[in-house]
Amino acid sequence: MDFAAVDRQISALEACLENTVPVKADEKLHVGVDLGTAYIVVVVLNSAKEPVACAMEFAQVIKDGLVVDYIGATRIVRKLVDQLGDRLGRELTHAAIAVPPGTGDKDCKTHKYVVEGAGLEVTGTLDEPTAANAVLGLENGVIVDIGGGTTGLSVLENGEVTYVADEATGGTHVSLVLAGNYDIDFKEAEALKKQPERQAEVLNVVRPVVQKMASIVKRHIEGRNVSAIHVVGGTCCLKDMEKVMEKELGIPVHKPANPFLVTPLGIALNCA
Ligand code: ATP
Repeated sequence: MDFAAVDRQISALEACLENTVPVKADEKLHVGVDLGTAYIVVVVLNSAKEPVACAMEFAQVIKDGLVVDYIGATRIVRKLVDQLGDRLGRELTHAAIAVPPGTGDKDCKTHKYVVEGAGLEVTGTLDEPTAANAVLGLENGVIVDIGGGTTGLSVLENGEVTYVADEATGGTHVSLVLAGNYDIDFKEAEALKKQPERQAEVLNVVRPVVQKMASIVKRHIEGRNVSAIHVVGGTCCLKDMEKVMEKELGIPVHKPANPFLVTPLGIALNCA
């Protein structure tokens, strides 16, 4: 795996949260919509599949991979799509989406209706680890996705997802522990967690939560020949959390430049 190339791609996408790369009037665009438990992220790539614009919003409209607020989700996706369309001077028309592995047909359709309700035609629905692996490009290995609600892992063999597991414990639990420890509300804890200058202090407080995440992974990879873990998802942004996981697991844990944006980028890469 070319770690430097992955980091370059992710860093270019991160820059597109603030900056917009100009596109031609007739250029084909690739759009990915990630409906998450904590964030909705929309990514736009140009015809060369390079990031040109990205927008996101904190939203609690999805729970355990299921849409719990259809109207709210549609409204946010439409808002983000309109913002990106304005920034690029182009109408966005098509998008790929992704759902957690094992999501039933009916729930996949609900995800699709949210995005269609926001005015986009859905070109395809992927599972999240396959989306992440479109960026990482692993033939064999394990991707651990720690988002808002859960720790999920996917085993890849010959480029195919052969085993998945998903258990409660994610960024929401990290924030709840911080809220309890500092006697602050959830929103303040979410903000504290992301302050660069307090990352070491935060990690000390939430170390047992990260150890729990590692124990979930450990249980599911037991008896498998796993030489390294690749972490993605917003919760892995926490500085040095990969070192805690590495210590618990006893195998190397690789973290890309901004693990939060890996799956959203992978979804857009799959927009036909
Ligand atoms: P899920 O995968 O569970 O459906 P999601 O797709 O919304 O949820 P992500 O967007 O990957 O998950 O991650 C969201 C989580 O990441 C939230 O709990 C958020 O607080 C956390 N997070 C985002 N940025 C940071 C940061 N810099 N440091 C620590 N945690 C962060």
